[in-house]
Amino acid sequence: MGDLFAAPQPVRVPVRSPDGATFPVRRVFCVGRNFADHAREMGASPADPAARGRPVLFCKPADAVVTGDEVPYPRGTTDLHHEVELVVALGTDAPDGVLDPADAESLVIAYGVGLDLTRRDLQSAAKANGLPWDTGKAFDHSAPLSELVPAGEVDPLGGRMLSLRVNGELRQQGRLDDLIWSVPEILHELSRLFALKAGDLVFMGTPAGVAALQPGDRFAASLEGVVEFTGRVVPG
Ligand code: MN
Repeated sequence: MGDLFAAPQPVRVPVRSPDGATFPVRRVFCVGRNFADHAREMGASPADPAARGRPVLFCKPADAVVTGDEVPYPRGTTDLHHEVELVVALGTDAPDGVLDPADAESLVIAYGVGLDLTRRDLQSAAKANGLPWDTGKAFDHSAPLSELVPAGEVDPLGGRMLSLRVNGELRQQGRLDDLIWSVPEILHELSRLFALKAGDLVFMGTPAGVAALQPGDRFAASLEGVVEFTGRVVPG
């Protein structure tokens, strides 16, 4: 008895390395409202770091990751938004149970920069009706991602600038030290709810300036001093 059809292969993200290594994707986790300026522009109350509650977490399917430089404009929307984000790649399974934030960074094998593409019209309608965000967030080709840079080659992320240009115009810019929830804190929070394993990606949230993309737009995402990622939106 074999499989009824050929088993799907994981998306494999190129890793910056001499041997052409790749990163097979298991799961994609995302953090919402992780920069105060973006939370405000979406109409949420500014985060109070002393009373920040729990982070907003959601998922995309693993095969939503796009590794090339062409991103098809999705069906079902007239308001596709860009959200440039730091992406953290895990290379080690978390131990059973809740992960201590002090141990979290040891799971990280690489960093990248990606776009949490959003069908904003569908997400806004879902929010207004108290419905899940899946149709707005978890669609095909919704997670374009740069090559991954081994964590050992990256100095501490610190206050690096995250930015996005569209057709040469600066749209989004934010410093990573303005993240409301840090990488270790988010990995800790995720581990309270999910098993974290090698192959998992975490999109860490976007700064202000989210706006629409159109077919033909060229984007250039940057994680300062680590990786640049350019591509184009093509007709779906
Ligand atoms: Mn996002």
